[in-house]
Amino acid sequence: MSEYLTFNVQQLEKYASYFALFFTKEGILVNAEKQTPLISFASTQIMLNAQIEAAYLCHAVLIVRCKITLSEEQLLSLGFRVFAIRPFLAQASTHLRQLTLKAYHWLNWDKQSCYCGQCGSPLKRKIDATDKWCDNCQSAFFPRFSPAIMVLIQRENEILLARSKHFAPGMYSAIAGFIDIGETAEVAVHREVHEEVGIYISHLKYFSSQTWPFPDSFMIAFKAHYASGDLKIDDNEIEDARWFSLDALPNLPSRPSIARRLIDSVTKK
Ligand SMILES: [Zn+2]
Repeated sequence: MSEYLTFNVQQLEKYASYFALFFTKEGILVNAEKQTPLISFASTQIMLNAQIEAAYLCHAVLIVRCKITLSEEQLLSLGFRVFAIRPFLAQASTHLRQLTLKAYHWLNWDKQSCYCGQCGSPLKRKIDATDKWCDNCQSAFFPRFSPAIMVLIQRENEILLARSKHFAPGMYSAIAGFIDIGETAEVAVHREVHEEVGIYISHLKYFSSQTWPFPDSFMIAFKAHYASGDLKIDDNEIEDARWFSLDALPNLPSRPSIARRLIDSVTKK
């Protein structure tokens, strides 16, 4: 059984023969010929002289964050490419997408949780677990999630979509926001809808959920019907919100996102 240790590259020697996912600041490393990010740990590390900064053993796959100083051309000549995470997720198989979502979430949290929040001591962890431990004050720490809600509101043959300033030009999505402390997901949906677009909803129904590591949200998605009120947009939160006819939709979020699945569940009936 593994024990709580401060991360050290020597720990990884016994995993030399394992497959790994290599994450760099720019994205995920992919074997260009085989079109897969699942690559041999030790031989890739040596070939690319990758400086390993963190590692986590997840379902027998080594997840590593590393620094690679080779240029794009040098990497390509060795048979590798780095893909940005979001485009990679859009075309990955379900299994690889789930593994990448988990790995990327953990690596982000790992970077932000080096020290104990209570006493400031360096945290230790097991190579095959996501939690961390402080020996000094005997405290356990677990990866952080920020629960959020999303709701697609339908009114006869129309759906309500909104866009934030940070969206790609022309893209609209369902209403979304973070759950506040003390709230249930359902209360958060009613509050966010009223705050952001000024209307009331009914027939709230759970749709699905998704972990989304940009940076650490856990999205719980719902469908609802319009009940009453006129659109009144909170321009601190969103840039625009409109009723769109199902046969004249704007640009939508890309496929692996829960927002797109939620919208497709209404528009592709
Ligand atoms: Zn502590």
